Amino acid sequence: MNVIILLGAPGSGKGTIGEKIRDIAGYTHISTGDMLRENVKAQTALGLEAESYMKKGELVPDQLIIKIVEARLDKGGKDGSYMFDGFPRTVEQADLLDKSLTNRGGRIQHVLFLDSPRDVLMQRLTGRRVCKKCGQSFHIVNIPPKKDGVCDLCSGELYQRPDDSEATINNRLEVFKKQTQSLIERYKKSGVLVTIDSNQNAAKLSEKIIDYLKKGGKIGTAAESFFCVK
Ligand code: ADP
Ligand code: ZN
Repeated sequence: MNVIILLGAPGSGKGTIGEKIRDIAGYTHISTGDMLRENVKAQTALGLEAESYMKKGELVPDQLIIKIVEARLDKGGKDGSYMFDGFPRTVEQADLLDKSLTNRGGRIQHVLFLDSPRDVLMQRLTGRRVCKKCGQSFHIVNIPPKKDGVCDLCSGELYQRPDDSEATINNRLEVFKKQTQSLIERYKKSGVLVTIDSNQNAAKLSEKIIDYLKKGGKIGTAAESFFCVK
């Protein structure tokens, strides 16, 4: 069982990049944020509990997250390879992931750290619009839909995530700094971290990442120059 982790602040492109590379590279994409939003929509017990944290931009308690991730892993994936998007986000979650991987005979192959400046994150999040029906993301300036407020793919209605208001975004960025940023150092130490400048065209960046993964993370040149890291 091979695992890739997409690590980055809100707005860094974890979801966008994850969507683009999941099928091509053969990894099953697991987004804890998406799973939580599905639970909120279906008004499950988990969703009801998680919603109050998500609205404020706080992290949902580790115990709940671990439960949904374990349940998802038990269901299995295409060929046992997973790409986590938005997980782990705390030291506790990272510890539990390590334990779970040891039990399942798995390992972390790569941690892709998507790095973008704060003003870019802010601009991306405040302009984001999501399809109610199919979940496709748009951006009022960067990726505008053909028709205002309407999804290009399924004609569903576009909405703004309740946690994409400026005040809540500020809190989410703060939470990233306080609770998630230390994982960068952790994975750097264990030798699996690849830092990627994600302030570049998402389609082009996805192609580069797919190429990198296809070559087993060995591309001749240093990953750093490959991904144009500052
Ligand atoms: P973003 O990375 O842009 O904040 P996500 O969809 O990954 O978007 O997460 C949205 C919200 O869901 C988070 O603010 C948090 O409340 C909750 N969440 C998602 N993943 C986790 C996690 N691994 N641990 C705790 N809370 C999480
Ligand atoms: Zn749609």
